[in-house]
Amino acid sequence: MSSVLRIALQKSGRLSEDSYQLFKECGIRFDYGTGKLKSVSSNFPAEFLFLRDDDIPGYVEDGVADLGIVGENVAVETGRPVTTVHKLGFSKCRLSIAIPRGTEWTGIQDLDGKNIATSYPNLLGHYLAGEGVKAEIHEISGSVEIAPSIGLAEAVCDIVSSGSTLLSNGLKEVETIFRSEAILIARPELDADKQALVDKLLFRIKSVQAAKN
Ligand code: ATP
Ligand code: ZN
Repeated sequence: MSSVLRIALQKSGRLSEDSYQLFKECGIRFDYGTGKLKSVSSNFPAEFLFLRDDDIPGYVEDGVADLGIVGENVAVETGRPVTTVHKLGFSKCRLSIAIPRGTEWTGIQDLDGKNIATSYPNLLGHYLAGEGVKAEIHEISGSVEIAPSIGLAEAVCDIVSSGSTLLSNGLKEVETIFRSEAILIARPELDADKQALVDKLLFRIKSVQAAKN
């Protein structure tokens, strides 16, 4: 039987539109947005799985999918041993520490002994350890930016792009700890047939990117 690449994409969110657009520009046709979990391409040996982005590195590690598109932030946070094949240049954002606007900031050591709310405990923990700062990390899965106003934490560490969410929650960005964009990830050990398909896909992706620059 000939090989078919299984590619995991975010079902709906900030990675989705650009991910679909990328494959479209690569000339790879498939249905999406129909509410289905899976779609087979009509003109490339690939099938697409539509999933929550957080689950994608795990599915790629387990071999449920051969490839996936996620934010680098999620790839690093989950710590799954997957291969970064290529940077895709969209969904650019940063992971930053923010504190209430009226609070003085002299540097990262101000966080010593403080509570910080985040959905990225590993990235934050690693960063603080590197800076020699000992803080209490509270992992919460969403609406991180309201944590200071409800007394849950003195600071947050969250994804920022324009900064308007921080502003509307009375917070100011004081330190960027990680910069992210969408990346194509792969299972570390693909067989030769699948690797040849990945190479073919990558060639098309690079051509699309080159045409834009
Ligand atoms: P899911 O329901 O799939 O778990 P989610 O709410 O976790 O979705 P999104 O908000 O759709 O995730 O963000 C997906 C990824 O897009 C993030 O992990 C990050 O890499 C990137 N991202 C997040 N916020 C922004 C933003 N404001 N601008 C650009 N990229 C962003
Ligand atoms: Zn998610």
